[in-house]
Amino acid sequence: MSQTKFLLSEDRLPTTWYNVVADLPKPLEPMLHPGTRDPITPADLEPLFPPELIAQEFSTAATVDIPGAVLDVYKQWRPSPLVRARRLEKALDTPARIYFKNEGVSPAGSHKPNTAIPQAYYNKQAGVERLTTETGAGQWGSSLALACQYFGLVCEVYMVKVSYQQKPYRRGLMETFGASVTASPSELTAAGRAALAADPNSPGSLGLAISEAVEAAVSSNGTAKYALGSVLNHVLMHQTIIGQEAQLQMELAEDYPDILIGAAGGGSNFGGLALPFLGEQLRGGRKVRAIAVEPASCPTLTEGKFEYDFGDTAGLTPLTKMHTLGHDFVPPSIHAGGLRYHGMSPIISALKDLDYLEARAVPQTACFEAGVTFARHEGIVPAPESTHAVRVAIDEALACKESGEAKSIVFSLSGHGHFDMQAYIDYFAGKLKD
Ligand SMILES: *Cc1c(COP(=O)(O)O)cnc(C)c1O
Repeated sequence: MSQTKFLLSEDRLPTTWYNVVADLPKPLEPMLHPGTRDPITPADLEPLFPPELIAQEFSTAATVDIPGAVLDVYKQWRPSPLVRARRLEKALDTPARIYFKNEGVSPAGSHKPNTAIPQAYYNKQAGVERLTTETGAGQWGSSLALACQYFGLVCEVYMVKVSYQQKPYRRGLMETFGASVTASPSELTAAGRAALAADPNSPGSLGLAISEAVEAAVSSNGTAKYALGSVLNHVLMHQTIIGQEAQLQMELAEDYPDILIGAAGGGSNFGGLALPFLGEQLRGGRKVRAIAVEPASCPTLTEGKFEYDFGDTAGLTPLTKMHTLGHDFVPPSIHAGGLRYHGMSPIISALKDLDYLEARAVPQTACFEAGVTFARHEGIVPAPESTHAVRVAIDEALACKESGEAKSIVFSLSGHGHFDMQAYIDYFAGKLKD
């Protein structure tokens, strides 16, 4: 009757990822080569990624098998719980049913290991020795650090300088998992040196850290490759493990979401939750409202242009057609470091352009207020990024209270905030600005 947790047993862990590209109403625009501006070929990506990930990036197959070695690691924490937020519902006095998919139960505390594990696995299979990457808040870096440790790869992380200073414990976690961490911009790469020459006090940005990590991989004579924690098609595909589990769990709950909500940085946790449901809809099934939530200070989907842009600041990556604030945009140093990215997944951008999903931008104090409310009723401190989803979930539940509608709301609790307590301390001290 009053079940709270909807848990799947390990034998119901999905064994394939879902590729929404197979169901899109119109094909994605091709990525373009940064030099020639011609559509890129799989060979163009070889300096960056191993063959299997390149194949997935271009794949139009509806499903891809998850390798057994990846499933074995997933089983350390997956299937993740789907929880009915009963105490929050009661506190809000809403007729809405609120569920959250708790990705904070992973070893790194967020959804990001869902793609870090397969990325490390495929690189190891291809004989790669080292992976380079960027990290904002440190969630991605700690996920890749663990994945590299599991599969015997060296991990080098360029961490956005403002986060490097704000989040020493994330750095400690990466080092504990065996990675080396460098503050970006750094003196180690040409891109970093150029940024420091222009502004010695540069707080860094994800775009700039990507330039450094890409440069380090490309100049490694093939021993190192680069790993990206969001945005790309193969990353969103790996994250669909979230939504596929949620579909099974909503069946257990004998319910179906009217509204899906996720915080959107590069779009991977939002896409991971929403795409399996949107795929149903695209194939003629039940309709669902999907809302991507972003910081008002980095409003990529709500205010960015839908056009070709680079993924990084220096213009080393291919150009993708996406919502973007411009590759030289440096977002203000808000606490939700994982949402400070100028671009957006091409898949999410295309679905937004075709009106299959909504986007909303929210200021950070309103997000922390929602995060505190959630923590006080559900006992979980959300990551600053995840508070964006919590904010809109609460707003939608309050709208239900107004209208008297009993909607079913499912949101992605993309991570816990145990490494982000300074952000909460600053919020309580009234130091956060919008
Ligand atoms: C990285 C991160 C995000 C944002 O990234 P997406 O690619 O949009 O999923 C959101 N929440 C948490 C906890 C993160 O670590």
